Amino acid sequence: MLLLECPCCGQRGEETEFHCGGEAHITREGPGADDAAFENYMFERVNPKGVHLERWRHVHGCGKWFHAARDSATLEVFGTYAAATHRPPEELLETIRAKRPGFKWRELA
Ligand SMILES: [Zn+2]
Repeated sequence: MLLLECPCCGQRGEETEFHCGGEAHITREGPGADDAAFENYMFERVNPKGVHLERWRHVHGCGKWFHAARDSATLEVFGTYAAATHRPPEELLETIRAKRPGFKWRELA
């Protein structure tokens, strides 16, 4: 069972209160992108055993999107943060590195 805390409204709840929107921080490709870049944007996703950064929506609460960092094997949640960011907060990355030595941002696979 996942216990998540919405960073928008502060409510804490089980994963049934939320909806997962897949991998976080995906680069959106525009109409000028080449085929390989657009294919990567549309279909390529990481599926790590370990630390994963995901988009979540508080569907039974405030309705807002946010990001969560969790371990896909143990279900440990390292933290949640606002969706309007291009990378996780440095403080959260330090928390993850303390618990999972060797973790590097953008080397999730
Ligand atoms: Zn909320």
